[in-house]
Amino acid sequence: MSPGITVFWESSRWLIYVVDRFEPGDKALAIDSKGRRYMFTLQPGGSFHFHRGILVHDDILGAHDGVGLTSTGSEKVTIFHPTYVDFVLKMPRGAQVVYPKDAAMILIEGDIYPGARVLEAGAGSGALSIALLRAIGPQGELVTYELRDDFARIARANVESMLGKVENFEIRLGDVYQPIGDEVFDRAVLDLPEPWQVIPQLVECLRPGGILTCYLPTILQVHQLTRELVSGNGWTAPRTTETLVRSWHVTERSVRPDHRMVAHTGYLTVVRFAG
Ligand code: SAH
Repeated sequence: MSPGITVFWESSRWLIYVVDRFEPGDKALAIDSKGRRYMFTLQPGGSFHFHRGILVHDDILGAHDGVGLTSTGSEKVTIFHPTYVDFVLKMPRGAQVVYPKDAAMILIEGDIYPGARVLEAGAGSGALSIALLRAIGPQGELVTYELRDDFARIARANVESMLGKVENFEIRLGDVYQPIGDEVFDRAVLDLPEPWQVIPQLVECLRPGGILTCYLPTILQVHQLTRELVSGNGWTAPRTTETLVRSWHVTERSVRPDHRMVAHTGYLTVVRFAG
């Protein structure tokens, strides 16, 4: 992506826009007239084939974010740089990813802030890692544990595919249920089956005032986690929520909720650590 300044003369005044032009290696997201989305990587001489014909990459390279094109099958499409949500729903997966609605809540309820040093486990497909890295920014640091080498590689590839090379992202291949070294974290975010097994390590390495956020698929796990938290010292007022997002169908003659929704993903338990 190359941001550039473009100047337009419009309605008797000059307008200055910052425009992200497409470059080789960028991901492109094509949205068709029905709102269907397709993601592909741009290469000189390349082409994207779909059921409404072909899009030629050279027509997109050098064009601005939001450029309109017509496929060889006469379908009008608009091309954008993919957002976080576009990318995460289409990227290659190893483990099941944290859904965007839950990632959004983790960032806010878990109070992930610019410059924070965050412990994450496991990396899985890297969906949550991308959200965490964007929230902590270049001054922050993300250390994520992952048991499986194949998942660690998928996570790193997905992170770099969305964010490019990131210097402040470390994947540690290993078991976060084992002792962690002598270090301090501001926040911890756990998406693995038995987060209570990480509590002894967190007591050593989470700073006073730190926050632990756990994402769990079943309420029995939430129950066990909460019991272990309240029986220990320093863990203050654990709170569990689930996030339901209901999308709506909005057209000229029909305005109603969509017929289907994602009924269940996981629960979020957030707890403050007093030290
Ligand atoms: N949050 C991730 C998905 C994580 S899936 C995403 O959004 O893409 C859970 C991951 O935890 C799996 O990859 C699994 O291999 C890893 N895992 C399970 N137990 C672990 C442990 N004890 N230490 C480190 N990683 C673990």
